[in-house]
Amino acid sequence: MRLLVVEDEDRMRELLGDGLSEAGFEVTCVADGGAGLKSALENNFDLVVLDGMLPVMDGFEVCRRLRSMGSSSAILLLTARHDVSARIAGLDAGADDYLVKPFSFGELLARIRALGRRMDIPIGNFIEFGDVRCEVIEKRVVLEDIQVSLSDTEFDLLVCLLKRSGNAMSRGRILEEVWEFPYGGSANVVDQYVGYLRRKLTPFGDRIGIETVRGVGYRLTITESRRSSTTGTDPAQSYSCAPDGQITSRAVER
Ligand code: CA
Repeated sequence: MRLLVVEDEDRMRELLGDGLSEAGFEVTCVADGGAGLKSALENNFDLVVLDGMLPVMDGFEVCRRLRSMGSSSAILLLTARHDVSARIAGLDAGADDYLVKPFSFGELLARIRALGRRMDIPIGNFIEFGDVRCEVIEKRVVLEDIQVSLSDTEFDLLVCLLKRSGNAMSRGRILEEVWEFPYGGSANVVDQYVGYLRRKLTPFGDRIGIETVRGVGYRLTITESRRSSTTGTDPAQSYSCAPDGQITSRAVER
């Protein structure tokens, strides 16, 4: 899925670019409405994440012009304005959906997936990591005959750790990906939710665990089933992230 991000705040644009790339999307970022319009017209993006308040030309105008010029890209408008009239103006201008700042990165991903489904852009409804299956709609994690339901935040946290394929992630990075965007609270919330998630994952025994990595943060560990693992293949080497954001297992030699 090819995305264009049009955002003038440097830090926000950087976070969106990095986060969406890491989520498996092909991302182009530009910093003003004029550049956004030009890039969107020249390239056939599946979706445009468009800030409302932009220099040169605001997001509402970019949206109107794209639609009047026949662009079929999905448009997700980001707005700091809470008033209903701004949302109506955005939707009337041709946006498919909007998100009010500040928002959680998980919600942004969910809305992008929802728009992709509506526009028939193929995006997976589940993420598989070896034998572990994360069901995006149901917010469920499934391994063999055990399934556990998670809250939205717990689910986003699990997927965020899963995508690192066994590498440690800092609390700051986890905060950026899972919480308010940009997040203004304390990083302790990460420790708190890791605690919740660990408890939820107890039915999986030692198959799925979250390790505390001293001085770094957290790492998710997946242990291969004793029944199926005979080669001692390092599980971390057996998974890959597909361009559509799905993490799928490569053929694991048994
Ligand atoms: Ca702005």
